[in-house]
Amino acid sequence: MRRISSIHYEQFVQSAQAEMSVAPEIAWAVGLAGETGEVMEIIKKGCLRVPGDVGYVEVDRAKLVLELGDVMFYLTSLGLEYGITTDEIRSGNMTKLEGRGRV
Ligand SMILES: [Mg+2]
Repeated sequence: MRRISSIHYEQFVQSAQAEMSVAPEIAWAVGLAGETGEVMEIIKKGCLRVPGDVGYVEVDRAKLVLELGDVMFYLTSLGLEYGITTDEIRSGNMTKLEGRGRV
């Protein structure tokens, strides 16, 4: 596994973005929702049934990593569209949760 800095990942994401037929922020938001659904599908298959039941499938960690990466791609794209870096997102989230007394 590579360790990747925020700035390097953001540059990578920007270089990998395809041209869209709609406003980019719409494309990134729709993509984020779609990829979140793919994550939910993996979790659903692994959690809604119990081992031994027909249809039970253990959560596929490798697939989950890939789909979470897709979520991260669209999350990063959407943030950058508004000039928001991944550092700012993480920092804001930490501050928010700390403010709730969770940490
Ligand atoms: Mg995907």
